[in-house]
Amino acid sequence: MTPPMSLPLPPSPITPTIPLDASGVQHGHLHLPHSRDDSAYGAIMIPITVIVNGDGPTVLLTGGNHGDEYHGPLALTKLVNAIDLDEVTGRIIVVPYMNYPAFVAAARNSPIDGANLNRVFPGSPTGTVTQKIADFMTRELLPLADAVLDIHDGGKTLEFLPMAASHVLDDKDAEARNWKAALAFGAPYATKLVELDMLGMWDAVVEDSGTPFLSTEIAGGGTTRPSSVRVTVDGVRNVLQHWGALAGQPAPSSSAPLDIADHGAYLISEDDGLLDWLVELGDAVAAGQPVARIYNTVKLGAPPIEVAATIDGVLAMRHFPGVVKMGDAIAMQARLVG
Ligand code: ZN
Repeated sequence: MTPPMSLPLPPSPITPTIPLDASGVQHGHLHLPHSRDDSAYGAIMIPITVIVNGDGPTVLLTGGNHGDEYHGPLALTKLVNAIDLDEVTGRIIVVPYMNYPAFVAAARNSPIDGANLNRVFPGSPTGTVTQKIADFMTRELLPLADAVLDIHDGGKTLEFLPMAASHVLDDKDAEARNWKAALAFGAPYATKLVELDMLGMWDAVVEDSGTPFLSTEIAGGGTTRPSSVRVTVDGVRNVLQHWGALAGQPAPSSSAPLDIADHGAYLISEDDGLLDWLVELGDAVAAGQPVARIYNTVKLGAPPIEVAATIDGVLAMRHFPGVVKMGDAIAMQARLVG
């Protein structure tokens, strides 16, 4: 039997409006043709900044993978506004709002095709708008990068303790290398995250390419706070120094390691209802301890359902809105290491 013929992929339809290798600071856009009813030859213009000074590694910084998360967009916008070119030792490519249509819509997923960018990698040059963005990142920007930082937070529906997040990997050298970057970021917490749903993630595509990778989860709720923005801005500088794209040494890290052992770390709601929290984010919890109650909003007088911790640790993430639905992740528990 002859194997099915695989055709070469066509080039990406996305064109940068700036050179990606010119010395200095270039602000421009990624031009993604988007023919639509109100503009036959229209385009989505995704902002990009490229900063080049001399020889050194290329670091790719991304935010806005989910459009309702603001720590990446804000920290990266502040970075490109304030960067001192003399400090740069190599190249920094910055895409603060990767899923720009979702960012404009203040939504996790794209309003154009409904897609979650972080579930469609490696994408397709002939797919939907979101798949085209993923394809450009995978085939055009990732090959330029010696390291990638992708900044996430909890978005509108989750709130995390501020943490740098690496992953457990089959390649233990790569795992150790990424863990060093997580500690160098210098957030209050660092973890090796176990994802609920890893397929199609930017994380997986970068890690599979063998490129050093770091992600974050920093607060959330669809907003920012001065303290959480400071953690992000300082963390970006620290990790740029750690990877050698910015002069100087990262500040000494005092990140507390968090162990998120397995999928059992998540508490999943088995009811719809109003959430009555019994503990705060970051509080210590013990296995069996009630952390929240869910009140029935269909039948008044029904007793609330109690949700109990399943491990001894801390509440590292919580569902942000005041109501939950069946199947929602109510919380993520983690063990403090050491
Ligand atoms: Zn995210």
